[in-house]
Amino acid sequence: MRTREAAPSIAVMPGRSFRIGRIAGIPVGVSPWWLAIVALISWSLGSAYFPEEVHGIAPSLSYALGFASALLLFASILLHEFGHAIIARRHGIQVQEIDLWLLGGVSVMHGEAHEPGDELRYALAGPAVTAAIAGIFAVISLLLEGSASAVVHALVDYQLLVNCLILGFNLLPAFPLDGGRVLRALLWRRSGDLEAATATAAGVGRGFGYALVALGALAFVNGLLTGLWLAVIGLFLIGAAGAQAMNAQVRTVFSGVDAGKLMSAPVITVPAAISVEQAVGDYFLPYRYTSFPAVDGEGRLLGLLTVDAAEALPRQQRVSCRVADIIDRDPELAVAEDEDIGGLLERPAFARVKRAVVVNAGKLPVGLLSITDVQRSMRVSRLSNRPPTARDVRKKRAVG
Ligand SMILES: [Zn+2]
Repeated sequence: MRTREAAPSIAVMPGRSFRIGRIAGIPVGVSPWWLAIVALISWSLGSAYFPEEVHGIAPSLSYALGFASALLLFASILLHEFGHAIIARRHGIQVQEIDLWLLGGVSVMHGEAHEPGDELRYALAGPAVTAAIAGIFAVISLLLEGSASAVVHALVDYQLLVNCLILGFNLLPAFPLDGGRVLRALLWRRSGDLEAATATAAGVGRGFGYALVALGALAFVNGLLTGLWLAVIGLFLIGAAGAQAMNAQVRTVFSGVDAGKLMSAPVITVPAAISVEQAVGDYFLPYRYTSFPAVDGEGRLLGLLTVDAAEALPRQQRVSCRVADIIDRDPELAVAEDEDIGGLLERPAFARVKRAVVVNAGKLPVGLLSITDVQRSMRVSRLSNRPPTARDVRKKRAVG
C-alpha cells in the first residue's frame, strides 16, 4: 500500500518517522507505530501461533521465532514498496523515501505518472513482488513437506500466509490501495480524464472503507477482536481516499496557475547578517509572521528564517548566532513568479516547510506563498456554484 504524494498538508502521513537507513539510494524510515506492531506480532505469534504449531516448544524460542517472523514480514513489505519505487524511478518519478508504519509501507513519491500505462505498471509492481515472495515461500513449504523440522515449517507457512494476505488486501479495488490504482489507471485510459478517474476510484475506495468499518463493527459485537483491525483499516481507507481525491483536485485546479498569482506580497525580508536576537526583536515580535526570507547585502535570497529554527536555538546563543547560521538554505524553497503551482505542490521542500519564497529574475524576494494561501484560494474557488477548473483561475488572471 502506498500514497505517492508528498503534497500539501493533506497528504496521508501518520506521525513522524525516523530514518533507519538507505537502500538503493532511497531513504527508509519507520514510524513509531511500526515498533508497536512488531512487538504486537512478536507477542501474538510467540504466545499462540508457534506453541500451537510446534508442540513442546520452549517459550524463549517461541518468542524469538515470533520476533523473527515480524521482521521477515516487514522485509516482505519493504520489498513490495521497492517494487513500486524501482518502476516509478524508471518512469522519471522521484522516490523521496519509503516509510514502514502501522499498516505496511508508504512510498513518498514526487511527481505523477504521465500516462495510464505507466500508472498501471507502477501500481502492479508492488503486488508482483509480493506474489513472487508468496510463490517462493509456497515452493519452500512444499519442499519441506514431511522432512523438515516443525519449527522451520511453521515459520515458512506464516510468511506464506501473510504475503497472501498482503497481496489480497492490496489488490482490493479500493483507491489508494494498489488495486484502486489499477482501477484508476483503467478508467483514466478509457476516458483520458485523470481527475474524473481519480474521483471515481476514490469514491469506490471510500465505499470499501465504510464496508470494512461496518463489517469490523459487526465482527466486534459478535466477539471477534479482529473486527477492530478491519474497522481501523476501513477508517484509514476512508481518510486516504478522501485525501488523495483532494490532492488530485488541488493539483488540477492549480496546474497552469503561476506562483506570482497566489503569493502574499509585498514580503518583509530579514538581513542574514543580523543576530537572531535582533531578528526576534525587530521582525518576529512586531510583524508576527512565522517565517521571513533572509537576504544578503544586495537583497538577494539566501534562505528562509523560520520561527521553528529560532525557537530551536538556545536563548543564550541568540546574540552570538547570526540569522545566516540558522536559515533553511534548500534551493527548492525559492520559486519563480511564473512557476506553475501544480508543480510547486509536488516539491518535497514545499511539503516540508509549507511555504516558498517567490523570487524575480534577479533572485530578489517578491512574495511568500504558503500552503494557507493555496488552501484559501481553493476554498474561495469552491464558493462558485460549479466545480472550479484551472481555466477559471487562469481566466481571472488574464482579466485582472
Ligand atoms: Zn503496493
